Amino acid sequence: MSEIRKHYFLPEYCIIAEERSKRPSDFAGPSDGSEKSSSESCVFCGGNEEKTPPATVVYNEGEVFADTEEKRVSKWDFRCFPNLYPAVSPAPSPPGFHGKGLETFPGFGFHEIIVESPVHGKKLKDFSDTEISGLMRVYKDRVCHYAARENIRYVSLFKNSGKAAGASLDHTHSQLIALPVCPQVLERELKVIREGQKCPYCALLETEKASPRFIHENSKFVAFAPYYSIGPFEVWILSKEHISFLGDFSPELLSTLGEILREVLRSYAKILGNMPYNHMFYQLFETPEYHLNLRLLPRISTAAGFELNTGIYINTVSPEKAASYLRGDE
Ligand SMILES: [Zn+2]
Ligand SMILES: [Zn+2]
Repeated sequence: MSEIRKHYFLPEYCIIAEERSKRPSDFAGPSDGSEKSSSESCVFCGGNEEKTPPATVVYNEGEVFADTEEKRVSKWDFRCFPNLYPAVSPAPSPPGFHGKGLETFPGFGFHEIIVESPVHGKKLKDFSDTEISGLMRVYKDRVCHYAARENIRYVSLFKNSGKAAGASLDHTHSQLIALPVCPQVLERELKVIREGQKCPYCALLETEKASPRFIHENSKFVAFAPYYSIGPFEVWILSKEHISFLGDFSPELLSTLGEILREVLRSYAKILGNMPYNHMFYQLFETPEYHLNLRLLPRISTAAGFELNTGIYINTVSPEKAASYLRGDE
């Protein structure tokens, strides 16, 4: 069982989750490992449903089903189930006492796996229009499901792809962790947003649309290498419309979001091959001032002593250069 611990004197949190050290890893080498495991041994593959906890929901051709303890649904496009090695849990043990003045909370929350395809080795960049927009709909549904739960203040939706990006299994999947606290990084942004006259994301979108950092756009979204980039080839995807939460996305916004995400991943593949990366949604519910954004970060460089010490990242590829590569200029 895990605990959420607050920093000695700052509004920052960490999660102590010793259970997670038992999780399996199917990686051996330094690559992203996609060649390492096979569909026979992979617990996320279609046909191996019995090897995971029962699905909370299964999507098949747009319809929604659920597993039972006795029987798993075997035909599915997307499959969501509780993480077997969760960082937080719906019924945590009471937290321990660790010292006077130290704040500890039960490790309450939900930790879900979203398997994005029954097919082993499939990559998001190769998804069809139906598959990628279907995945965006699953993202929306699952985020809404957990945002509506009592005592949940933040829903983190992210993808780890490749070992260096934190994936312990290589079959394509995303994860969702719903928390009873709002992370400091978003609280800090929100404070600044509330102090200003205009949404800073709407303002920076205007700047970046016409900058050397612009990469792609479609009718609803713009992708660019942010002026403040913490690592090589970081990309942000911003909606042209001010919208704070995936739950408010129309079907058209979902499909255009999927399209631009896939386009960025295809650009990455051309330049960087099969590199490890994370994508992460920044969004808040019941907070219309916020402007949802999706950030992608290839895990090419490592945050080392200086970065951990200062919070200042040294990035060896300028976002201007990164954008010109990703646009296909050179
Ligand atoms: Zn698999
Ligand atoms: Zn905005």
